Amino acid sequence: MTEKKKAKGRLLVVSGYSGVGKGTVIATLMKQHPEYVFSVSATTRAARPGEVDGREYFFLTHETFREWLAEGRFLEHTTYLDRSYGTPRDYVESKREEGCHVILDIEVEGALNVKKACPDAMLVYIIPPSAKLLVERLTGRGTETEEQIRGRLSRAIEETAVIPQYDHVIVNREVQDTADEINAVVTGAAMPYLTKEEGVALARSIREDLTAYLKKTEKHDIVNRSVFTDKEPTMIHPSYSELMTKINANGTAEDPVVKSRYSIVMGTAKRARQMVDNGYMEQEDHSRKPLSIAVEELDEGRIRILTDEEYARIKAEKEAERAARYARPAEDEAEEEAPADAEAAPEEGEEEKTEQED
Ligand code: 5GP
Repeated sequence: MTEKKKAKGRLLVVSGYSGVGKGTVIATLMKQHPEYVFSVSATTRAARPGEVDGREYFFLTHETFREWLAEGRFLEHTTYLDRSYGTPRDYVESKREEGCHVILDIEVEGALNVKKACPDAMLVYIIPPSAKLLVERLTGRGTETEEQIRGRLSRAIEETAVIPQYDHVIVNREVQDTADEINAVVTGAAMPYLTKEEGVALARSIREDLTAYLKKTEKHDIVNRSVFTDKEPTMIHPSYSELMTKINANGTAEDPVVKSRYSIVMGTAKRARQMVDNGYMEQEDHSRKPLSIAVEELDEGRIRILTDEEYARIKAEKEAERAARYARPAEDEAEEEAPADAEAAPEEGEEEKTEQED
């Protein structure tokens, strides 16, 4: 009997804003699924505390890096913030032949070069749920100077432009959820939570918040002082996870008010669109994004996400109201004003709906 050849493993490229937590996600994925292996890159940057040569990176001198490059030992290489990084080719190829999924944790330029060299590679971009969380993570880890943090945030702003060239965008809210989501996408068991368009839209809104943040903190010491405590926050807060916990406090474990964070993402996105469509953003001098306002409205109970039953009931009531109005005599109708809630009424066929409460 001939031994069945193992299917070739996938090449998974994971990129994300610096500080987004992709290292922890990758570690979780590998711990739970031994078929994933990590491609250890080479770099000329110094090891951070706790990093081990040959585990996180091969820490090379500039001279050795140039030698490896000349010998064609890199699948791709790049310069990032004045340091060189490269993916050793042999390891990637031999592990894929063995049937392992090889993970590359690299920045965007390298990722796009990998896609050119290996068109079957899967490119995943991880983003944080909000700009606020990203800044908190970067300042909180205390390994970088303020200037370096600013460099990383500026780079994140620039990188957003290439996210549409990735295959999938995944939001890192909870490490375990993110690891599960990536595994499901790699194995073909499921599609990501957000469509690529939704993920790109969220990344763009984070980019705008980061740009506003960098501008606002130009003269501040961002490592020691958080501008997010200002009265007028520019960031989305609370996070979708916090919102979900809060909203579901009104339901039971068996029958939660919202079943997934996705409902909140979609609900608040739709509410934000409603505000733009209704001209609300033009009437007021808002420094914040519609999505931030929608999240705040939801948090404060000024809007809420309807269950399917509630939505069906309200829709039926509105239709009955409308039918009753048209059934009245013509002279009554002429005097009647347009219904005040017509603009806020949910659109036909929408999956997630928000309702304004007075
Ligand atoms: P860090 O210095 O924070 O470990 O990594 C800085 C950036 O370099 C990250 O975006 C990381 O993904 C990227 N990077 C790490 N290894 C490689 C590599 O081999 N090739 C490329 N193109 N980027 C890499």
